Amino acid sequence: MQVLTTLIVLGLCIAAFVYTDINGYKERKVISITAIAQVLAANNISALQFLDSAGAKKILSGVEQNETGISNAAVLDKSGNLFASYTVIGQQPYTFSPVRGNTSYFSGNYLYVYNLITTDSNELIGTVCIQVGLYQLEKIKGDLVKIAFALLIIGIGLAFLIAIINQRSISNPLLYLVKVMRQIRQSEDYKHHVTVKGRDEISILSNEFNNLMDEVVKSHQKKDEFIGVASHELKTPLTSVKAYLQLLEKIEKEQPNLTYVQKAQENINKLQKLIYDLLDVSKIQAGQLQLDIKEFNISELIMECIQDIQLSTAKHTITKAGEVSNAIVAADRNRIEQVIVNLLSNAVKYSPAGKEIIVTSKRTDGEVSVSIKDFGVGISKADQEKIFERFYRAGSGLFGVSGFGLGLYICHEIIKRHGGKIWVESEGEEGKGSTFYFSLPVISHISS
Ligand code: ADP
Repeated sequence: MQVLTTLIVLGLCIAAFVYTDINGYKERKVISITAIAQVLAANNISALQFLDSAGAKKILSGVEQNETGISNAAVLDKSGNLFASYTVIGQQPYTFSPVRGNTSYFSGNYLYVYNLITTDSNELIGTVCIQVGLYQLEKIKGDLVKIAFALLIIGIGLAFLIAIINQRSISNPLLYLVKVMRQIRQSEDYKHHVTVKGRDEISILSNEFNNLMDEVVKSHQKKDEFIGVASHELKTPLTSVKAYLQLLEKIEKEQPNLTYVQKAQENINKLQKLIYDLLDVSKIQAGQLQLDIKEFNISELIMECIQDIQLSTAKHTITKAGEVSNAIVAADRNRIEQVIVNLLSNAVKYSPAGKEIIVTSKRTDGEVSVSIKDFGVGISKADQEKIFERFYRAGSGLFGVSGFGLGLYICHEIIKRHGGKIWVESEGEEGKGSTFYFSLPVISHISS
């Protein structure tokens, strides 16, 4: 492509150069021959007046001396009849036809110049005609073709050289990148990286490609982890339910056993939560999380949630503390309940040693903010940045706590959709626990 472009550009330049050079030569020729014609016209006035055609011919023969390429010169009288003519030795004689006025034109390989002969009183008495052979033009054309050819060869050579250099610095790395991409696609080995040299655009592209591959690897890892956790999390309650049902079947006739039914229900609830969480995630991902916005008192909702979760744990005491306000928010009550229940359940789940859980709610600058504080395992600073991500679980696996890493992600999305904020504070030390906060825009405030 590069060589072709160079060839076209160079060809156009050479054509323009040849055209101007030839035109320049022709213009110069017209000017110099016109000057000679004017001199001959002036010199032939008296010859014409005295009908001295021999004298006129002698004057015309003067053109022999200069090397202008003149082959024929003639004087026509005022009626256009030949008065005198001269043919340069070795040239073909030419018969001039009469023209009106001072003029010049090119025809074949000749230039024709006509100059009127007038007396001092401006009376037209004849015309000087000159025919000039453009032999030099042929030589000039020949020379120009040689120069053009030499320039073309040099141009193509240079273009090839630049193309080879470009090939090395642009095409080769690009082709290498394409090759690696193909290999990765075929082998599905996304850990494969491109070697990056330098800091040019190709290197930036290669770097970005490597980063992209890192992301692909991470998302594959997340997917694999998720499948592992999902199969485990779904299997455990299912196995339990199955076992309790088998036991129930055996002893049903002998004595009714409520504990087994309760256990089976607990596990079914767990399964149901997992399935609902997964459905919520797919709704969030598809941008289809619908909110049913209505005004309600968030303090009442908090109290209901506390009572519900308190029923599920005997080890923990959940209390409401601090400034308690009756704030009206416009939000989806069920979804906000989902958030509070999730945060309270986590507070219970991640403080296995039991103790207190403190819930506060307060109103600040058109917002109501709720906090849930526990005294459990805490969350390290590094994990705090990631726990709201999908499928992320901080070292909780280490405490043998089951989970999917979806609850906080869903809470985050719900609060975000309501125009609120959710965050966590923790010193990351066991026993000091963590405090989760969320805030929502408030509609009105009823003093408690
Ligand atoms: P799950 O509890 O199912 O793992 P979540 O999205 O609710 O998923 O929580 C994500 C992670 O955040 C948990 O795995 C846990 O490591 C951490 N986490 C959440 N709440 C707490 C808490 N109150 N104390 C300590 N760690 C917590």
